[in-house]
Amino acid sequence: MNPLHSLLLDWFQSNDRQLPWRESKDPYRVWVSEIMLQQTQVTTVIPYFQRWMNRFPTLESLAKTPPEDVLGYWQGLGYYRRCKLLLQGVQQVANSGQFPQSVDEWLKVAGIGRYTAGAIASISQSIPAPIVDGNIIRIFSRLTDSNAPFEQLEKEAWNWASLNLNHKNPGDWNQSLMELGQLVCTAASPKCELCPISAHCKAFQQGTVALRPQKKERPNRKFLAWSIDVSIKQVKNSQVLVGLKQARANEWWSDLWVLPYRNVDDKTSKEQSDDTFTLTSGENQIRFVVTKHHIQATFQCVLQDESADLVFFTQSELETLPIPAPFRKILNKVLK
Ligand code: SF4
Repeated sequence: MNPLHSLLLDWFQSNDRQLPWRESKDPYRVWVSEIMLQQTQVTTVIPYFQRWMNRFPTLESLAKTPPEDVLGYWQGLGYYRRCKLLLQGVQQVANSGQFPQSVDEWLKVAGIGRYTAGAIASISQSIPAPIVDGNIIRIFSRLTDSNAPFEQLEKEAWNWASLNLNHKNPGDWNQSLMELGQLVCTAASPKCELCPISAHCKAFQQGTVALRPQKKERPNRKFLAWSIDVSIKQVKNSQVLVGLKQARANEWWSDLWVLPYRNVDDKTSKEQSDDTFTLTSGENQIRFVVTKHHIQATFQCVLQDESADLVFFTQSELETLPIPAPFRKILNKVLK
């Protein structure tokens, strides 16, 4: 009998959070939650998940909705490729007529990798499948006091997760590990005094918790300066229209609607053309990060009647248009 099983499962029973995706074991709900939770915190995901389920309560309802409408319900969550692949995967499963019945079958669905396949299969279908994500790698490295580099650690963690899987209750077991990583064995300040498995943790016993896992090397960061135009057109009744373009397949934010931007150096970004007016100094800049790119953008309103590249929208149309968060922020500032 594996002592970790009863310790962690008992702890999970009295500590699991009431999260909306835990209300049912419907594979579709678990699937959506797992995709939304990639790279995104639980508290951020909750309102998005609830809104999504109100609009797309079933796999079939999502499968028949055009991508443009679906993206509108993802806007603000970022990493929009996740949403497009989720829709593709859902259409694939809807066409096949039934949910995959094994991890191997889940792995054939668009957008589903080893972790997500294991999570959906174990939580919603009780299929004994291990999962490993950043939380579980961290727990594993501390339990074993391993100083291995990240790639090796990840391999060893998969091995550990397979060997220690609870076959009787794989879904709760996997969720208890994830919950432990999110609530107790956290990256910055682990609460070892509350940990149900501290008696089995080598790093805790050796006093090396803060050193595990070994830090990953940070990727090189790139800094970009952008100039962004908010093209404004005034029509009857002083109504304002704003021009956006749809990003192409080979561009960042493909298929979403963005304000026209260009890369500039610091010198040229300070120059203003005649038909441009700048908002009050200090208010017309935002900073954001896209993958490893750190971007400082200066934005300005441009009065423009026509542009072949742009489509003009009313303010109410903008509300439902899929627009990436940095551009949405600029529009909120300009149109407030
Ligand atoms: S004792 Fe501390 S470091 Fe070890 S698993 Fe528990 S929370 Fe993590």
